[in-house]
Amino acid sequence: MNFNEYPIESLMYITNRPEIVFTHGKGSWLYDNNGKRYLDFIQGWAVNSLGHCNDGMIEALNKQAQLLLNPSPAFYNGPMAQLAGLLTQHSCFDKVFFANSGAEANEGAIKLARKWGKKFRDGAFEIITFDHSFHGRTLATMSASGKPGWDTIYAPQVPGFPKADLNDIASVEKLINAKTVAVMLEPIQGEGGVIPATREFMQQLRALTKQHNLLLIVDEVQSGCGRAGTLFAYELSGIEPDIMTLGKGIGGGVPLAALLAKADIAVFEPGDQGGTYNGNPLMTAVGYSVISQLTAPGFLEGVRARGEYLRAKLLELSEERGFEGERGEGLLRALLLGKDIGNQIVERARVMQPDGLLLNAARPNLLRFMPALNVTNEEIDQMMAMLRSILDTL
Ligand SMILES: *Cc1c(COP(=O)(O)O)cnc(C)c1O
Repeated sequence: MNFNEYPIESLMYITNRPEIVFTHGKGSWLYDNNGKRYLDFIQGWAVNSLGHCNDGMIEALNKQAQLLLNPSPAFYNGPMAQLAGLLTQHSCFDKVFFANSGAEANEGAIKLARKWGKKFRDGAFEIITFDHSFHGRTLATMSASGKPGWDTIYAPQVPGFPKADLNDIASVEKLINAKTVAVMLEPIQGEGGVIPATREFMQQLRALTKQHNLLLIVDEVQSGCGRAGTLFAYELSGIEPDIMTLGKGIGGGVPLAALLAKADIAVFEPGDQGGTYNGNPLMTAVGYSVISQLTAPGFLEGVRARGEYLRAKLLELSEERGFEGERGEGLLRALLLGKDIGNQIVERARVMQPDGLLLNAARPNLLRFMPALNVTNEEIDQMMAMLRSILDTL
């Protein structure tokens, strides 16, 4: 392979990347520098909600690029206000702050909760989070995450994130003390292996946090923006959190994230929160296109139908091959393999000929599926056929 055109050795080594360079994409398909195409069921890690190079997003990006890139975060711009309005209209929240990544939105949520604790709860600052959770890669969000090994890698940690067990309300109750200000969780643990919090657990959490005057924070960076078949995953449990964070899917592929809060929780004062690119009109214009498309009549019904279709196909395969079933919501699903063959499948799927298949093993014993929300049933069938042929080679 000739990499002269691509000096990849100049990139800092942070992970093992395959020796291909992706050059373009459309919908559910991605193309590399050799002209090979790949059916993409990763979509930038549940990021490209509308697939690669969605027409509406391109139009919004082009139009905004001609008008205004950056007036400064100290001034209002049109797209930032319009996207905020769209998000408050379609959620239980009243106030929005835009950021550039999920981790940064979560940092904002942590700061907002600590500020609220200072103001109303005598300086309470501890935020109960969960084992196997993932909240990002800044020091505070790594400390909030329950990923094995992350407590020591960049020690010392940021203090104040005791860990409970998902779907075990007693484990949460046990950690509550005078210093506790909030509970933060992913309604569906994504990186942890697509583990949904049960509806019962979410309702118990809401009751418990109300009872102790604590904030409930949902990290919907992965589960939000239509991924779970509803615009936001908290809707599935019929509760209203106090704070929510969004990332990934809200930008559909561009760097955009958001922190949302109820009006009485949004207690930042001038100077408390900011960021050079917050509310950047180029990104928020794209986000507006994404959220408009997701909330168009019938779109989310379609996501739920395709999620059910994928679920049925995965269950059928599981029966056939003696796997351990599947789990998830909407188009965030996992096939439970029952043995550690996930990475091997991922590898073989990518190098498969003539077309490759992009899959992810969030854990070695499962495959995670996060296709474009507008994936077609035919593409799901194509993926299943490719997966079957790989399984035949194992
Ligand atoms: C990906 C992810 C994050 C981090 O988002 P970045 O944009 O990578 O900073 C945070 N929380 C959850 C649940 C995620 O899936």
